[in-house]
Amino acid sequence: MTKAFFIDTTTCTGCRGCQIACKQWKKMPAEKTVNRGSFQNPEDLSFTTYKLVRMSEAEVDKKLQWLFFPDQCRHCVEPPCLEAAGEPQAIYMDKATGAVIYTKVTKDLEADKIIESCPYNIPRKGPDGSLAKCDMCIDRVSNGLKPACVHTCPTGAMNFGDYKEMRELARWRLAEVKHRYPQATLLNPDKTRVIYLTAFKPNLYWEYAVACEREIDITRAVAMQRMLSPLRSFFSQLG
Ligand code: SF4
Ligand code: SF4
Ligand code: SF4
Repeated sequence: MTKAFFIDTTTCTGCRGCQIACKQWKKMPAEKTVNRGSFQNPEDLSFTTYKLVRMSEAEVDKKLQWLFFPDQCRHCVEPPCLEAAGEPQAIYMDKATGAVIYTKVTKDLEADKIIESCPYNIPRKGPDGSLAKCDMCIDRVSNGLKPACVHTCPTGAMNFGDYKEMRELARWRLAEVKHRYPQATLLNPDKTRVIYLTAFKPNLYWEYAVACEREIDITRAVAMQRMLSPLRSFFSQLG
């Protein structure tokens, strides 16, 4: 049974415990930051920041809302980045969990192509040219532990378990909050292994909260790649 996250933003307090736990477990350095007039810190994901609690202020029904969105790789069910790479030594899916894993071999890929392929704007390039992102804490999960970010969340906003169980939990929770938040919705629940529940329209939280049009672009790119790959193998056999 593959795994999934359910992230309930209606109970997220923006404490950033998940962001810190990710840094600690991955032994990644802090980032130098500046005051940009927001509590969101750092400004963006990076080669050494796999999890970022995005914060935005939005007016909804004439009330100011402070919205939190714990951003990370969605571990797509059919990952466009994996298809764009076409190199299992660099990007592969762990069969047991469904986690999409990047290795150091990503430095041999065309980084811009992989970054562009992600409809959620997740992978980041490092100084050595390799790409990095959340790996579902595959080391912990393979040993029966929860991901560090889930383990540390004090409000229960972050959940992790079997894919089917998380989808059921997400649907149940959506039904529960609908009377309070009529606009509440689940984001791409059939396409990703990270299912978010938002109280308001997803674009108020973050531009890439739901899949952007890059998905359409990669569909074309991948279709072209698939069309050309039999020809490539034919010509390679000819030597
Ligand atoms: Fe970081 Fe692990 Fe959570 Fe991914 S699953 S965001 S690597 S703590
Ligand atoms: Fe790949 Fe982006 Fe999907 Fe993560 S969210 S699996 S980086 S396409
Ligand atoms: Fe939100 Fe939980 Fe992360 Fe705190 S630890 S920011 S409550 S998801």
